[in-house]
Amino acid sequence: MSKQLILALSKGRILDETLPLLAEAGITPAEDLGASRKLLFETNLPDVKLVVIRATDVPTYVQLGAADVGVAGKDVLLEHGAEGLYEPLDLEIAACKLMTAGIRGAEPARARRRVATKFVNVAKRYYAEQGIQAEVIKLYGAMELAPLMNLADEIVDIVDTGNTLRANGMEPRELIAPVTTRLVVNKAAMTMKHERLKPLIARLREAVERRRVQAPA
Ligand code: AMP
Repeated sequence: MSKQLILALSKGRILDETLPLLAEAGITPAEDLGASRKLLFETNLPDVKLVVIRATDVPTYVQLGAADVGVAGKDVLLEHGAEGLYEPLDLEIAACKLMTAGIRGAEPARARRRVATKFVNVAKRYYAEQGIQAEVIKLYGAMELAPLMNLADEIVDIVDTGNTLRANGMEPRELIAPVTTRLVVNKAAMTMKHERLKPLIARLREAVERRRVQAPA
């Protein structure tokens, strides 16, 4: 196993919150991540490289060892499953909630509820646990549209402020899980590269703790 550490970052909203935290832990990309179409970046640390990929691909890269460490939302980890991954640290960024939601005021009429979501595994598990029969319909985006178009009775989606739901005449219903962004580590790398990973995780933990002291919850 090479001594180099590959850190996989989730693109988009999480990336905007991850980069300042990484900087506080002493890791900065050697160039502006947004300035090119590149996906693999050097950092200020000679043995640490970054890859910037789709959030849903991060657990796969880390599980299969293409990346040693990853930054991924708990929503993505719950959907993907945690096999082959350690989750040593809650980075306490990009907080949101996995929730069910439906059209404001509407009762779920059917005995077998139609649920549209991109979180198919999370939804199946949740409705089974609740003893509710559900037909889960996989969508890739714009979940809020599905009940309005009578494709589904409910959705399972990420809710932050709830504005997206409200703007579409919907309301949040049940909380499935609170979500924050987590550090994940490949299980083999945790053993084989422990000497290198330990200080990295420690510096990130210190950065998270410093923020908690500065802005207590
Ligand atoms: P809001 O209107 O503030 O409830 O935001 C809801 C939308 O923003 C959802 O449909 C999500 O796609 C997205 N979103 C909010 N928070 C996050 C997050 N922490 N990570 C990823 N997507 C998010």
